[in-house]
Amino acid sequence: MQRIFFLGTGAALPSITQDNSSLLVESNDVLLMVDCSGAPYRKLLRIGVDPVKLKHILITHHHIDHIGGLPSLVECLWIKGRTEPLHIYALPAAMRVVEILLDLWDLRNRPIKEFPIVLHTIEGSQDEPVIESPEFTLRATPTLHAVPSVASKIIFPDGRTLVYSSDTALTPAFIDFARGADFLMMECTYCDEEQELAGITYHLTSKTFSEIASQVQAHHTLLIHHSEQMSCSHEDLTREIVEKHGFKGKFSIPKDLDFIEIE
Ligand SMILES: [Zn+2]
Ligand SMILES: [Zn+2]
Repeated sequence: MQRIFFLGTGAALPSITQDNSSLLVESNDVLLMVDCSGAPYRKLLRIGVDPVKLKHILITHHHIDHIGGLPSLVECLWIKGRTEPLHIYALPAAMRVVEILLDLWDLRNRPIKEFPIVLHTIEGSQDEPVIESPEFTLRATPTLHAVPSVASKIIFPDGRTLVYSSDTALTPAFIDFARGADFLMMECTYCDEEQELAGITYHLTSKTFSEIASQVQAHHTLLIHHSEQMSCSHEDLTREIVEKHGFKGKFSIPKDLDFIEIE
């Protein structure tokens, strides 16, 4: 069974209904978390998956809304008695923050029942292979953001493909990377009238989101990393994407803890 859970769908400012963006990919009983926000252990319990099955964590970049939950997750897994290794993947800049966060609470050096935390530094090259496993292949490619960040591509054994932008401005390289995706998940932090802010912070707007989505033409395009408290309503954002910018494909804005099945 292959499922994608939305552990969080908001941008940097969470609300009662939205935590910071984070995804969980489940493929044949192996779990990959993409970014680690809020209280991740509790969210794994709420969606009904066994936290012990979490094997891989990809940190796309070191902004706090993408990495802030990591120490608490590692602490909870330790208390729960984990023995299996946990693999963490990140670019060099983000990996430095991972190490600082883990060492701040001595999470790599527990007196009893320590479990191995294996750190894998990503180079940041174009379409870089990160994980090759029987359950899925993970590839990453650099995006254009305020700090070094990667987009990710998950290829399931049947060839079905999911691409997630994480935080980025519009780049032709990302469109090339995303081409052929069955499921395209993209950030859209701002609506049209916030274009200047999006330029300064290297994020997508409804206009640039629609441009990429129209070119990629995925089977299903999903929008995350948008907080109504920071920007316009989801309703207004949808109106801009579909009516103003004319995006025609299947499109949705998932809610926290929703999931889609890859079948
Ligand atoms: Zn973010
Ligand atoms: Zn960011």
